[in-house]
Amino acid sequence: MSEHDTNDERTDADERSTDRTDRPDSAGDEEVRSWTESSGTGTVNIQDLTKVYGTDGDELVAVDEMDLHIEAEEFVTVLGPSGCGKSTVMECVAGYLDPTEGEVLVNGEPVDGPDPSRGVVFQENRLFPWKTINENVRFGPQMRDSVDEGRIETLFDQMGLEGFEESYPHELSGGMQQRAELARLLANDPDIMLMDEPFSGLDAMTKELMQEKLLDVWEDDDRTVVFITHDVEEAILLADRVVVMTARPGQVKDVIDVDLDRPRDTNVVTSDRFNELQRRASESIHDEAERAMEQAEGRA
Ligand code: ADP
Ligand code: MG
Repeated sequence: MSEHDTNDERTDADERSTDRTDRPDSAGDEEVRSWTESSGTGTVNIQDLTKVYGTDGDELVAVDEMDLHIEAEEFVTVLGPSGCGKSTVMECVAGYLDPTEGEVLVNGEPVDGPDPSRGVVFQENRLFPWKTINENVRFGPQMRDSVDEGRIETLFDQMGLEGFEESYPHELSGGMQQRAELARLLANDPDIMLMDEPFSGLDAMTKELMQEKLLDVWEDDDRTVVFITHDVEEAILLADRVVVMTARPGQVKDVIDVDLDRPRDTNVVTSDRFNELQRRASESIHDEAERAMEQAEGRA
């Protein structure tokens, strides 16, 4: 995770009311419905994105002229070595950071700050520690006066959180906290889920369960997912396309189409095709990981 803290911004995002009928491409009820259900909702266009941190004499180019188009309802994983600019890109898509050059378009419109239609999950959850799981999950919809009891109940069921409604985050295991975090995100019914190494702090078994949970959720709904990871196996298991990034400054090095059948579960990792794809991704990232390590050691 990068240094900037986005905790406060998440509150802003949730508090910022987003009535879908305010969207520019919606007019009457009929059109609103087709807009929310149409496959056009959830496209992400990263165009010529450059992000420079610091000021004169002490500048660091984190991302350099990156281009990437993500289709609506696509599951894209972004694979890159530590420090290559993955979180920076994601925070530009989330609207937490402004690009230095270039832009990010979501549904064809430039991103202008955070919005609950773009839900963000980090490695460390952003649950409010002083609120119960139930209060946390309801927080976003409540801020917009749009609590759907049926939806909340389904989410608790889907995430296996029944019985933990009145628990506080610290009373739950890491895996359960990330499930609550996913429920919190899904309660906002986002078109786009932006996930920044959400499972990398979990033990192997819990991580596998969370990956399957996420695949289930994604297969059930029409959402775009942009999932950042430095784990090659995870990148392929989840994705329609794996975007391999270069070492800093981050650019797209390679895009790998993952032609494994859906629905998928974690058993797919034993297949020959999976191994082929994994080898290809590992080869692609190998030199970049080496370069990133040299950068970290101050040799590049
Ligand atoms: P990744 O997520 O791939 O590990 P980041 O996007 O977090 O990479 O960071 C990319 C580079 O930008 C790193 O070298 C990091 O140290 C630097 N960086 C990130 N955030 C800031 C910041 N707020 N100020 C200065 N440098 C930053
Ligand atoms: Mg990061």
